[in-house]
Formats: sequence, structure tokens, C-alpha cells
Amino acid sequence: MEVILRENDAADWVYRGEGAANLVLSYIGSSPLFIGKVMRIRKAPRSDVVTVRSPSALTAHERLLWKDVDELISSSDKEIAGRLFVQHVMKPLLGSKFVDAGMHVLVSTEFLESVEKDIICQRPPWRVDNAQVDTQCDSVLLMSDHSVFSHGLGGGAEDTNFGIAKAFEDVLKSFIQANDGLCTESLLTLVAEALTKSGVLNQLLEVQKLDNVDIEGAIHAYYDITSQQCMVCRELGEEQAKKYTSLHSASLNESLRVVRDYLIAATAKDCSLMMCFRPRKDGGSGSEHNTVYLESTKQTFDFKADNSSHEPFGSVSVGRLVPA
Ligand SMILES: [Zn+2]
Repeated sequence: MEVILRENDAADWVYRGEGAANLVLSYIGSSPLFIGKVMRIRKAPRSDVVTVRSPSALTAHERLLWKDVDELISSSDKEIAGRLFVQHVMKPLLGSKFVDAGMHVLVSTEFLESVEKDIICQRPPWRVDNAQVDTQCDSVLLMSDHSVFSHGLGGGAEDTNFGIAKAFEDVLKSFIQANDGLCTESLLTLVAEALTKSGVLNQLLEVQKLDNVDIEGAIHAYYDITSQQCMVCRELGEEQAKKYTSLHSASLNESLRVVRDYLIAATAKDCSLMMCFRPRKDGGSGSEHNTVYLESTKQTFDFKADNSSHEPFGSVSVGRLVPA
């Protein structure tokens, strides 16, 4: 059964934060479908100018580049294309247990209008002046809420000072049973062990290594794909441009591979990695796959790791989690 969020559902969603292109709301209702989820809603610039939406999500060159990914090239919306890129390109490479591509949920215009009205007071005024909820959208992206530690514990927004470090340590006390002052140190051990055990860093590295020419090389293949004169080689002059002759003499398929691998590797280099931990109430041996045993506190923790990939499509280049 397809879910459509309507006007009276808006009260269950509260403002969490926003970036340049999207708003993030978290769920405070009781539906099992949405508990533990955040919602990402696209913003539209405040303007009297009526913009005409592109009929196709991807450009002709983007469709050529991703021609082997049927789901991606047939998508009719750039936002959806971004999710499909994560689902069908990044997820198989990084491992399905490490990637949450999210899920689109249909919404009514009245739902979006109601959200816009409810959250406006909590948004930074300069953000309100620049953009509003895009009420022309008919869907929003639903994702797992990974921000269990975000309430501000520093979160990267401010430099850590003594006060923040103390507050962080105090919060950890309910979670890590270490002696006074040792909770943060225990958390670092926990993170390091979970990272090692998950294998997620190796997986990321393998995908990052798909690209071996970087932007300085990929740009030549890009000009060949788009049948344009290579501006880089023109600037360099004949002699210096000779080292890129092999890239320019590659077949179209090889040029497509170079650019595709560059974009995939760049996505893997720019992704966020979220780790979640949950102490086991019953102790346990710690021998299972997704658990870590913390020797210093004799506690066992379940953990999960999740990559949040940024897509190579402009309109969805903002981080998928909780924007600052
Ligand atoms: Zn060139």
C-alpha cells in the first residue's frame, strides 16, 4: 500500500536543520513506519520568477555515462536520480550493509504547505529569506536517523573546549560504564575496534582506488565524451599536452569508463561515515559479527556503520544527514 503524507501528518515532523538545498525534519509521531527516520525536503528559492522544470533528470551526456544503469537513465527527476545512483551504483560497490539510499515517500501539497508554516519560526532568518519548502515536490526522501549523538555534543560545529569535553563525558556515562574521566577514551577504543571489525574502511578504499587519473586526467576524457576541444590541452600548448595524448586517443567506451570511475571514486572520497552503538543489556560474549567487546568496561556493544554518499548530480549535492 502506497503511503501519502497529508496535511494532518505534518504535526508529527519537527525541524532538525537545513543546508542550501534541503531541509531536514525528524519524526516525533508513533507510526512504526517513521520512527527512527528523518525526512529530507527539497527547498525552492524565494522568487517571483516561475521556473520551468527540466523534462528529463539527466543530460544526454549523463545518460551516456550511466548507460549501463537502466534504473538511473530512465528516472524522470534529478532528486530521484540521486537516490538511484546511491542505490544502484554506490551500494553494490560499498556493500549494502554500509549504505542507506533512503526511500521516497509521496506527500500532498497541503502537507508541504503545513510543514512550511510550522517550521518557519525555527529556521534561521537568512535561510527563510533565501528559500522556502518546495511545495511543487510530490515526494520527500526518508532516511535512517543517524544523529543519535548530535544534540550540538560539539558535532564538529565548534572547537572542543573543556566545557564541551566535560558535557560529552557526562553524556557518555549513561552509555559507557567506565571510571570518571575515562568514558571518552573508551568511546575512541570502541570506534576504532568497530571500524576495524566492520571492514568499512577497506571497502571505501577499494572504491576510492577505482580512479587512477584524478581530475587532471578525467577532464581530458570528459572533453572527448562531450566532443569539445580540450581546453586544458589548449592552455598547455603542444609540447606539454603530449602526455595526455593516450587519454585523448582512447575509445569512447574507455573515456566513459575513466569519467565514470572518477565520479564514483570522488563520491566515495566525499561520503560521510556514521557509526551507531548500542550497549547490550545482557552482556554477551562479543563474538558475533556486528558486536564489539570493550575489555576496559566489560561491556558488549552492537554496532552498525553507514556511508552517506553525496551524488554526482548538482541538485542533490548537499549531505544527506543533518546539515549544519
Ligand atoms: Zn586534453
